[in-house]
Amino acid sequence: MEYEPVIGLEVHVQLKTETKMFTRAPYHYGAEPNTLTDPVVLGMPGTLPVMNKKAVEMTIKAGLLLGCKIPETSKWDRKNYFYPDMPKNYQISQFDQPICDGGEVEIEMEGASRNIMGEHRKVQLTRIHLEEDVGKLTHCENESLVDYNRAGAPLVEIVSEPDLYSADEAFAYLTALRNCLVAAGISECDMEKGQMRCDANVSIRPKGTHELGTKVEIKNLNTISGVRNGIIYEIQRQTLAMENNQPIVQETRRWNAEEAYTTSMRSKEMAHDYRYFPDPDLMPVRVSKEWLNEVARDIPELPFDKQRRFFNDYDLPYTLTSVLCPDAKLAAYFEEALTIYKKPKQIANFIANDLLRELSAAGEHGALPLESCKIKPAHIAELVQFIDKGEISNQIAKEVFPEMFRTGNPPGQIIEEKGLKQSTDTGELEAVCLEVIAENPKPVQEFKEGKEAAINALKGQVMKATRGKANPKLVDDLLRQLLS
Ligand code: ADP
Ligand code: MG
Repeated sequence: MEYEPVIGLEVHVQLKTETKMFTRAPYHYGAEPNTLTDPVVLGMPGTLPVMNKKAVEMTIKAGLLLGCKIPETSKWDRKNYFYPDMPKNYQISQFDQPICDGGEVEIEMEGASRNIMGEHRKVQLTRIHLEEDVGKLTHCENESLVDYNRAGAPLVEIVSEPDLYSADEAFAYLTALRNCLVAAGISECDMEKGQMRCDANVSIRPKGTHELGTKVEIKNLNTISGVRNGIIYEIQRQTLAMENNQPIVQETRRWNAEEAYTTSMRSKEMAHDYRYFPDPDLMPVRVSKEWLNEVARDIPELPFDKQRRFFNDYDLPYTLTSVLCPDAKLAAYFEEALTIYKKPKQIANFIANDLLRELSAAGEHGALPLESCKIKPAHIAELVQFIDKGEISNQIAKEVFPEMFRTGNPPGQIIEEKGLKQSTDTGELEAVCLEVIAENPKPVQEFKEGKEAAINALKGQVMKATRGKANPKLVDDLLRQLLS
């Protein structure tokens, strides 16, 4: 019998707010442990939560971006449990009235042909709710350490329907979701910094059937490739169990990335175990039409919509659109260059090849961010203009580019300073051509005997003599003229 996997993801994303969810304590990544706390975060007696409006706004924004319904009212609930990651012994979350209902995330299907834009699908979302993050525990040999910096940071949970059918689709979903959220400035979604975390629910069922199988929840999937590998492993484990007539137990399992297997953590807890109840310290959230409209004005174009637009309007090859569009900043950089000179393909090529190569070579941990790049979009447009006007060759442009990157100087200045302008001085060039003809009797002879390709050897010599600065078209014309 063949089995089909069914996967639903629960993705936690930290919002890019200045302060925490229910207090003014600041939150940012990388601070000394336990320096970003206050009495509210630490659950001191007598403290009360005050809602961070900006966090609610960003959640609404995420919802509008992903096509969710935003109910007029949502509310806060306490999720009760005892664990040292949460000093209050409850987490403020949303149980039955989340800020966003439904929604969808467009993904690119596995095996999508690299040339067409059609093979996409929308993955259904269940909901998006807002909650507070919890502290971080580090377990050492004889002790455990706790850092409450993260505790109380605004965290959205994006829950998908069981609507993904392979590890690759889960991978595509996470990538697409991250691109959308980053484009909208909602989160940086850096999994290494814990800004995006994912639990995967996996079940299998006989291929062709529709009922859902028993699901297993996998935790500790800390990287995007971890998500893929953890799911692949879990599908294999469940398939093997089914084939051996062993029951699949509903449980939570932990992914062990180093050794690539999952182990059972606990049998699945149920919602009622948490004794959810409305938080008496917080008022429900009312989202007025006006507020909704205001947030809606700030919704950016979705990455795949942008990709379709670039493909259609700029006539870019699919590969270039798929480099530029997932990164909203890179796409904006490209479009800014176009306002100076409208040669999409050439400009896109310089960005996708030369610029990205320089950025990745210059970065210490990963690529240098585009914000730190000294090359202005206009400089790339100008460089292409110089090529089109015949003032420099493509080859020279490839030399100018690293200089532009290093110095931040406009290409015109670099070309000028280094004397790289292509020679269009016919007199000077003619002298070089005559010299080359005199020194290379063999190809001259061959060309005169009708061997067309022999002229290339002569052209090469002229280019060498002029250190690539001669206009190739002009050289060709001149040589033919002189040899006729
Ligand atoms: P729980 O009650 O365990 O929290 P939910 O119904 O709330 O379960 O679903 C949590 C996540 O698990 C969702 O992302 C959902 O899509 C996914 N899920 C639910 N049932 C299955 C299943 N049978 N197979 C795979 N994923 C599932
Ligand atoms: Mg649930």
